[in-house]
Amino acid sequence: MNNHKFGWIVGSTISTIIVLLLTLLITTCVHKTRSPSSTQEKITIKEEVYKLRDKPTRFKPNTYMPKLKESKASGAIDLSTFSPGKSLVFVDDSRAWWESDHDKNDTEDDHSMYITMEAPLRRLIDLISEQNAILKIQDTYRASGIHNPHSLHKEGRAIDLTCDKLGLEELAKLCWMVGFDWVYYEAKAKGGAHVHCSVKRSEN
Ligand SMILES: [Zn+2]
Repeated sequence: MNNHKFGWIVGSTISTIIVLLLTLLITTCVHKTRSPSSTQEKITIKEEVYKLRDKPTRFKPNTYMPKLKESKASGAIDLSTFSPGKSLVFVDDSRAWWESDHDKNDTEDDHSMYITMEAPLRRLIDLISEQNAILKIQDTYRASGIHNPHSLHKEGRAIDLTCDKLGLEELAKLCWMVGFDWVYYEAKAKGGAHVHCSVKRSEN
């Protein structure tokens, strides 16, 4: 073996060792930086589980929970405190089916909803997806049109829901569990039976 070849072997062995050491160092750093966030995720999920209300044994058609008028449970409409720019958020989740994404004649956007609607809706999508079913968001914010003048849909504080596989009674129970302030199993609605849920106004 001449000196040139020996030098080359030593050189490449040292380079390989350096590369291996660097890889080990980078892997350790990445692992360390990721650890706290994955712990955080676990804690968040655990808190979410504890927030669920008990599942009602029955949720009969044309009944609502709690047993109060919607204006008492969620608060009556007050358009003077409502501003679409400040009060509404855009929510999307590809596991759910959004009516306005499939209706080209519809000028409304079912992804727009009042701020306090987002948390219970996201929990509901989680629960329903776990059962391999698809939540259908039929209607949320509607400034005008089909709803009555006092409808909370005009503030984006109401949402109409159905589901591809679960019956409406089961859906209404899950809606109650995830924390909507008022849940109504509307079996005789003109546009078709659905579960209507509403939320209180934000305190901020
Ligand atoms: Zn409704």
